[in-house]
Amino acid sequence: MPFYDYICKCGHQFEEQHKIANRDEPTKQPCPSCNEDTVTQKIAVPGFVYDNISGTTIKGHKKKPDEAFTDHLKQMKRNYPGSNMNV
Ligand SMILES: [Zn+2]
Repeated sequence: MPFYDYICKCGHQFEEQHKIANRDEPTKQPCPSCNEDTVTQKIAVPGFVYDNISGTTIKGHKKKPDEAFTDHLKQMKRNYPGSNMNV
């Protein structure tokens, strides 16, 4: 299962492992830090700048996909052609 990044309006960031189908689940739950229902999922797109979160600008947090990990996922996908993994 892949990890997904989440961020709350209070600035609290966390990472959770979820099935792709359940990847937005933590956004339906209160923030573990401030208990507000303001958690959003960060989309892990290389080069994407998260500057549209109200009051918060996060710069320099670009994630480069780990190439070895990506290759590993592709290999897994080859081994399991029926999987719906989005690689
Ligand atoms: Zn919070």
